[in-house]
Amino acid sequence: MSEPVIPKPKSEFLQVECPDCNKVQRVFSHASTEVKCLVCNCLLAKPAGGKCKILGKIVTPEKKE
Ligand SMILES: [Zn+2]
Repeated sequence: MSEPVIPKPKSEFLQVECPDCNKVQRVFSHASTEVKCLVCNCLLAKPAGGKCKILGKIVTPEKKE
């Protein structure tokens, strides 16, 4: 079996905090369009060759206990 070197595109939702208003919203990691904050319209993510470049702060998901 020959595995391709390129990792599989793993799509997921990220919790991204807006640097301006601290609103946390879900951003698709492979969004093909720019993602803006719903509150202040600040750019949170932009497409960068398949995977999104996240411009806001990525918040780690809450741990399930
Ligand atoms: Zn905002």
